[in-house]
Amino acid sequence: MQDRDDARVGDIVVDGALASLQRRHGGPLQLIGRLLAPRPRTIERDSLSFTLADGRDVEVQRVRNPRARRLKLSVDERGARLTLPARASLVSGQRFLVEHRDWLSAQLGHYADVAAPPLLLGVTAELPLRGAQWPLDWRPGRFARVQQEGDVIVFTAGERASQASLQRALRDFYESQGRADVGHWLPRYLATLPRPPRRIAFKRMTSQWGSLSPDGNVVLDLSLVLARPASFEYVLVHELCHLIHGNHSRSFWREVEKRFPDWRDERGYFRTEGRRLKATLRALLG
Ligand SMILES: [Zn+2]
Repeated sequence: MQDRDDARVGDIVVDGALASLQRRHGGPLQLIGRLLAPRPRTIERDSLSFTLADGRDVEVQRVRNPRARRLKLSVDERGARLTLPARASLVSGQRFLVEHRDWLSAQLGHYADVAAPPLLLGVTAELPLRGAQWPLDWRPGRFARVQQEGDVIVFTAGERASQASLQRALRDFYESQGRADVGHWLPRYLATLPRPPRRIAFKRMTSQWGSLSPDGNVVLDLSLVLARPASFEYVLVHELCHLIHGNHSRSFWREVEKRFPDWRDERGYFRTEGRRLKATLRALLG
């Protein structure tokens, strides 16, 4: 499944958050071969080591996807990925990588610039939230838990707490903060909507910031809680306006503008900061 396939009615995609190159695979001969040969149904994955022009070896995830129609090389905060259609040979994939070695180096370099530190028990001294860095105070306790106390974030955890339990506690904290923000903003917009959203949920999305399904469920990217609040609010308003227009027509943007006149600034914020926000959350939550 490609990263953008889960967009339904509305979606916001970070420009450049997922850099990719594609090539249509094969001509008529391959097409005949494709019709005759049974297609594998499952997506197979493995990884290979690939040497960049500067001699550095990088891991490239190789995905054999029967639904893919072309060779595709993409880079996001998780690294490089090569997608092969069902009938593409491994050699053609390798050749594709070699041809785009420089592009791959440049894209990976871009992501290295935004690499964020991981969460370390007792060591991490601050946490990002609402566009700022907050001092973090570690306290001993039996169950991993994160709370805000005034201007400090308090992380309670046992000495031997597993990384997974710490990450779960932080994820819960971020989700509750996100729900609180949405709960604070939502009432002001409900009166002018044709219907309320059925549900608002947070998920970790790779390249999107939010989406609205046809049955009225809003999904918001969890890394929005790290963004400056106005930008987070804009994404909420954007998805809510899809309850009026399920597209990005001029009428849609008029509805956004009525409710959020500065929407262009916020969209610009995601263009410059979006990649870093997603990389930061990924580093913290794994
Ligand atoms: Zn949209």
